[in-house]
Amino acid sequence: MIAPARLCITHDGEKLRCGTAPVRRARVTIGADMDLQRRQVLIGGLAGLAGLAGMRPSAAASALEANRLSFYHIHTAETLSVAYREHGVIVPDAIAAIDHLLRDFRTGEAHNIDVDLLDTLSLLHEASGRRGRFEIISGYRSPRTNAALRAATSGVAEKSLHIHGRAIDVRSTGLATSELRDAALELARGGVGYYRQSNFVHLDTGAFRSW
Ligand SMILES: [Zn+2]
Repeated sequence: MIAPARLCITHDGEKLRCGTAPVRRARVTIGADMDLQRRQVLIGGLAGLAGLAGMRPSAAASALEANRLSFYHIHTAETLSVAYREHGVIVPDAIAAIDHLLRDFRTGEAHNIDVDLLDTLSLLHEASGRRGRFEIISGYRSPRTNAALRAATSGVAEKSLHIHGRAIDVRSTGLATSELRDAALELARGGVGYYRQSNFVHLDTGAFRSW
Protein backbone atom coordinates (compact mmCIF):
# COMPACT_ATOMS: atom_id res chain seq x y z
CA MET A 1 0.00 0.00 0.00
CA ILE A 2 1.32 3.40 -0.86
CA ALA A 3 1.33 5.74 2.08
CA PRO A 4 -0.50 8.99 1.46
CA ALA A 5 1.73 12.01 0.93
CA ARG A 6 2.37 13.77 4.22
CA LEU A 7 0.87 17.22 4.27
CA CYS A 8 2.25 20.23 6.07
CA ILE A 9 0.29 23.32 6.98
CA THR A 10 2.09 26.57 6.38
CA HIS A 11 1.75 29.64 8.57
CA ASP A 12 -0.56 30.87 5.85
CA GLY A 13 -2.84 27.89 6.20
CA GLU A 14 -1.84 26.36 2.90
CA LYS A 15 -1.36 22.65 2.58
CA LEU A 16 1.63 21.33 0.74
CA ARG A 17 3.55 18.13 0.65
CA CYS A 18 6.50 18.11 3.00
CA GLY A 19 10.00 17.83 1.69
CA THR A 20 9.15 17.58 -1.98
CA ALA A 21 11.49 20.32 -3.14
CA PRO A 22 14.46 19.12 -5.17
CA VAL A 23 16.80 20.85 -2.75
CA ARG A 24 20.36 20.71 -3.96
CA ARG A 25 23.12 21.63 -1.59
CA ALA A 26 25.09 24.63 -2.70
CA ARG A 27 28.63 23.67 -3.63
CA VAL A 28 29.96 25.76 -0.79
CA THR A 29 28.05 26.12 2.43
CA ILE A 30 27.18 29.53 3.72
CA GLY A 31 28.53 29.39 7.22
CA ALA A 32 31.68 28.96 9.22
CA ASP A 33 33.23 26.46 6.82
CA MET A 34 32.91 28.44 3.62
CA ASP A 35 36.13 28.93 1.74
CA LEU A 36 37.87 32.25 1.37
CA GLN A 37 36.72 32.94 -2.15
CA ARG A 38 33.14 32.25 -1.24
CA ARG A 39 33.50 34.43 1.84
CA GLN A 40 34.80 37.28 -0.29
CA VAL A 41 31.92 36.87 -2.73
CA LEU A 42 29.49 36.82 0.15
CA ILE A 43 31.01 39.85 1.83
CA GLY A 44 31.09 41.73 -1.42
CA GLY A 45 27.71 40.52 -2.54
CA LEU A 46 25.69 40.26 0.61
CA ALA A 47 27.21 42.41 3.32
CA GLY A 48 28.05 45.08 0.78
CA LEU A 49 24.50 45.12 -0.39
CA ALA A 50 22.94 44.77 3.02
CA GLY A 51 22.76 48.53 3.27
CA LEU A 52 21.16 48.81 -0.13
CA ALA A 53 18.24 50.81 1.19
CA GLY A 54 20.66 53.48 2.32
CA MET A 55 22.69 53.58 -0.88
CA ARG A 56 22.41 56.32 -3.44
CA PRO A 57 19.98 55.25 -6.19
CA SER A 58 22.71 55.08 -8.81
CA ALA A 59 24.91 52.89 -6.60
CA ALA A 60 21.99 50.62 -5.74
CA ALA A 61 21.06 50.41 -9.40
CA SER A 62 24.53 49.40 -10.51
CA ALA A 63 24.74 46.84 -7.70
CA LEU A 64 21.57 45.30 -9.03
CA GLU A 65 22.44 45.53 -12.68
CA ALA A 66 21.97 41.91 -13.64
CA ASN A 67 18.56 41.00 -12.33
CA ARG A 68 17.16 37.91 -13.91
CA LEU A 69 14.78 35.99 -11.69
CA SER A 70 13.43 32.54 -12.47
CA PHE A 71 10.32 31.17 -10.82
CA TYR A 72 8.14 28.12 -10.58
CA HIS A 73 4.79 28.50 -8.81
CA ILE A 74 3.93 25.27 -7.01
CA HIS A 75 0.16 25.90 -7.06
CA THR A 76 -0.28 26.96 -10.69
CA ALA A 77 2.75 25.15 -12.19
CA GLU A 78 3.53 28.37 -14.06
CA THR A 79 7.12 29.28 -14.76
CA LEU A 80 8.73 32.62 -15.51
CA SER A 81 12.29 33.72 -16.17
CA VAL A 82 12.65 37.43 -16.63
CA ALA A 83 15.04 40.35 -16.09
CA TYR A 84 13.09 42.86 -14.05
CA ARG A 85 15.87 45.46 -14.18
CA GLU A 86 18.15 46.27 -17.07
CA HIS A 87 21.20 48.35 -16.15
CA GLY A 88 19.45 49.11 -12.91
CA VAL A 89 16.29 50.40 -14.58
CA ILE A 90 12.95 48.70 -13.91
CA VAL A 91 11.45 46.83 -16.88
CA PRO A 92 7.67 47.41 -16.70
CA ASP A 93 6.69 44.39 -18.82
CA ALA A 94 8.79 42.12 -16.63
CA ILE A 95 7.29 43.58 -13.46
CA ALA A 96 3.80 43.03 -14.88
CA ALA A 97 4.64 39.39 -15.63
CA ILE A 98 5.92 38.90 -12.08
CA ASP A 99 2.83 40.60 -10.60
CA HIS A 100 0.68 38.19 -12.60
CA LEU A 101 2.68 35.13 -11.57
CA LEU A 102 2.52 36.12 -7.90
CA ARG A 103 -1.21 36.84 -8.00
CA ASP A 104 -3.60 35.38 -5.45
CA PHE A 105 -3.93 31.96 -7.05
CA ARG A 106 -7.24 31.34 -5.29
CA THR A 107 -9.07 34.39 -6.63
CA GLY A 108 -6.95 35.44 -9.59
CA GLU A 109 -6.52 38.95 -8.16
CA ALA A 110 -3.15 40.57 -8.81
CA HIS A 111 -1.36 43.34 -6.96
CA ASN A 112 1.83 45.33 -7.48
CA ILE A 113 4.66 43.37 -5.91
CA ASP A 114 7.12 45.51 -3.96
CA VAL A 115 10.27 45.89 -6.06
CA ASP A 116 12.31 45.82 -2.83
CA LEU A 117 11.11 42.24 -2.43
CA LEU A 118 12.36 41.40 -5.94
CA ASP A 119 15.69 43.02 -5.10
CA THR A 120 15.91 40.80 -2.02
CA LEU A 121 15.27 37.74 -4.19
CA SER A 122 17.88 38.93 -6.67
CA LEU A 123 20.48 39.32 -3.93
CA LEU A 124 19.64 35.86 -2.61
CA HIS A 125 19.96 34.45 -6.11
CA GLU A 126 23.39 36.10 -6.23
CA ALA A 127 24.26 34.40 -2.93
CA SER A 128 23.39 31.03 -4.46
CA GLY A 129 25.88 31.61 -7.25
CA ARG A 130 22.94 32.22 -9.63
CA ARG A 131 21.96 28.57 -9.43
CA GLY A 132 18.47 27.20 -9.54
CA ARG A 133 15.16 29.01 -9.44
CA PHE A 134 12.68 30.13 -6.83
CA GLU A 135 9.70 27.96 -6.05
CA ILE A 136 6.76 30.10 -5.01
CA ILE A 137 4.39 28.84 -2.34
CA SER A 138 2.56 32.11 -1.84
CA GLY A 139 2.91 35.67 -3.08
CA TYR A 140 0.13 38.24 -3.08
CA ARG A 141 -2.89 37.32 -0.99
CA SER A 142 -6.11 39.28 -1.33
CA PRO A 143 -7.80 40.53 1.88
CA ARG A 144 -10.64 38.11 1.10
CA THR A 145 -8.30 35.13 0.94
CA ASN A 146 -6.41 36.27 4.02
CA ALA A 147 -9.65 36.58 5.99
CA ALA A 148 -10.74 33.10 4.87
CA LEU A 149 -7.39 31.63 5.88
CA ARG A 150 -7.57 33.39 9.22
CA ALA A 151 -11.01 31.96 9.86
CA ALA A 152 -9.90 28.45 8.95
CA THR A 153 -6.50 28.24 10.61
CA SER A 154 -4.36 29.79 13.27
CA GLY A 155 -1.15 31.65 12.62
CA VAL A 156 -2.35 33.88 9.77
CA ALA A 157 -1.66 37.52 10.52
CA GLU A 158 -4.55 39.97 10.14
CA LYS A 159 -2.22 42.58 8.69
CA SER A 160 -0.12 40.12 6.73
CA LEU A 161 2.31 41.84 4.39
CA HIS A 162 1.14 39.33 1.77
CA ILE A 163 -2.00 41.46 1.31
CA HIS A 164 0.18 44.42 0.33
CA GLY A 165 2.36 42.56 -2.17
CA ARG A 166 5.25 42.87 0.25
CA ALA A 167 5.76 39.22 1.24
CA ILE A 168 6.54 35.92 -0.40
CA ASP A 169 6.84 32.32 0.77
CA VAL A 170 9.58 30.73 -1.22
CA ARG A 171 12.31 28.14 -1.50
CA SER A 172 15.18 27.83 -3.96
CA THR A 173 16.43 24.87 -5.95
CA GLY A 174 19.90 26.45 -5.81
CA LEU A 175 20.24 26.59 -2.03
CA ALA A 176 19.10 24.42 0.83
CA THR A 177 16.21 26.23 2.51
CA SER A 178 18.23 26.68 5.72
CA GLU A 179 20.94 28.36 3.64
CA LEU A 180 18.38 30.57 1.97
CA ARG A 181 17.27 31.64 5.45
CA ASP A 182 20.88 32.28 6.54
CA ALA A 183 21.53 34.39 3.45
CA ALA A 184 18.31 36.35 4.06
CA LEU A 185 19.32 36.94 7.69
CA GLU A 186 22.67 38.28 6.51
CA LEU A 187 20.91 40.66 4.17
CA ALA A 188 18.64 41.87 6.99
CA ARG A 189 16.38 43.63 4.51
CA GLY A 190 13.06 42.64 6.09
CA GLY A 191 11.23 39.86 7.87
CA VAL A 192 12.62 36.32 7.62
CA GLY A 193 10.52 33.38 8.78
CA TYR A 194 11.87 29.84 8.47
CA TYR A 195 9.40 26.97 8.16
CA ARG A 196 11.65 23.94 8.28
CA GLN A 197 8.95 21.31 8.17
CA SER A 198 7.16 22.88 5.23
CA ASN A 199 10.51 23.70 3.64
CA PHE A 200 10.14 27.36 2.79
CA VAL A 201 11.16 30.81 3.93
CA HIS A 202 8.80 33.74 4.37
CA LEU A 203 10.42 36.98 3.22
CA ASP A 204 8.92 40.43 3.45
CA THR A 205 9.88 44.08 3.19
CA GLY A 206 8.75 45.06 6.68
CA ALA A 207 11.15 45.77 9.52
CA PHE A 208 13.97 43.29 9.94
CA ARG A 209 12.94 40.52 12.28
CA SER A 210 13.16 36.74 12.27
CA TRP A 211 11.26 33.76 13.55
ZN1 LIG B 1 4.40 34.29 4.30
